Amino acid sequence: MEIHNHKYLNEIVVMDLSTLVNEKTKKVRDHYVVQCPLCKEKLHEYGEKLYIKDDFSVGYCQRCLSKFFAPEIDPNSSDWEFKYKKSNKKEIKTYDSLAEYDVTYYYKSKEFDETGLRYLSTRNLQLAINYRKYKIRFNENEVVLPFIRNNKVIYYQTRKISEKNYFLPPVPHKPLYIVPTSNFLSKRLIIVEGIFGAIATQMYHKNSIVVALLGSCITDYQLWELGKLFNYNECYIYLDHLDLSYNTLNKIQDRYPFKNYGVLNSVKGDPEDDFKEGFTPDILNLSGKFEKKLDRYIDKWKTKMTY
Ligand SMILES: [Zn+2]
Repeated sequence: MEIHNHKYLNEIVVMDLSTLVNEKTKKVRDHYVVQCPLCKEKLHEYGEKLYIKDDFSVGYCQRCLSKFFAPEIDPNSSDWEFKYKKSNKKEIKTYDSLAEYDVTYYYKSKEFDETGLRYLSTRNLQLAINYRKYKIRFNENEVVLPFIRNNKVIYYQTRKISEKNYFLPPVPHKPLYIVPTSNFLSKRLIIVEGIFGAIATQMYHKNSIVVALLGSCITDYQLWELGKLFNYNECYIYLDHLDLSYNTLNKIQDRYPFKNYGVLNSVKGDPEDDFKEGFTPDILNLSGKFEKKLDRYIDKWKTKMTY
């Protein structure tokens, strides 16, 4: 089937969206988050990436980028999106690029909140003391974490304090989170899973640029961003599990082969816990593997040249 050649399905589906939701379904703000039936059927991907508006009118899959509509909504009519935007404050929208993402939610949030600050201090005291450096803001029962490019906030993630869940507003491409206190002149890049882990890592690797993937694998968009945003010589992968780090390392190394790579092994479970326990992870040197890869590329070129 041709499906295998397409990473994104980008389909339009008309269905009764209430059939995808039951009493156990996770709810984030005014959206249900469910497994996408198209991802499951056509891509054999089972993560919960489909966001359904709680009135079951529309849905959007972050993974395959398909749009879902209730039968009473005409997907071909140009005004559905307009109507939808008008009627909801936090609607799902499709954006062509992050540059136009609406970050008013971040700017409307508070610069100080005692509950929020106390929450940060239970994670990591240094984080609470320095929260302004990371431009962290607050809402009721919520921490808002900004993504910054050239001093501008382009996106945000929120963390509900009591429910312990994260919310990434749906966008076609999940961007990299970059710790704002990174040393941007540095040639050393460290990649971790989550934002708090990235901040903790930057605290003891002050001379590095630290980024978070917001998950345990790197997306194609994030791979592209790595090459576009950073001119690094060394790159260390520091995910919560060593095997995940190696998977990500292979993907990055395939794309950008002529750099030095390594992994950092988390002993306490994740980078933030390592930080709190005062543990500095070992760098596992992969130079042997790197050379092997280099040989492979040289072989490729040789074949091309003699041809
Ligand atoms: Zn999908």
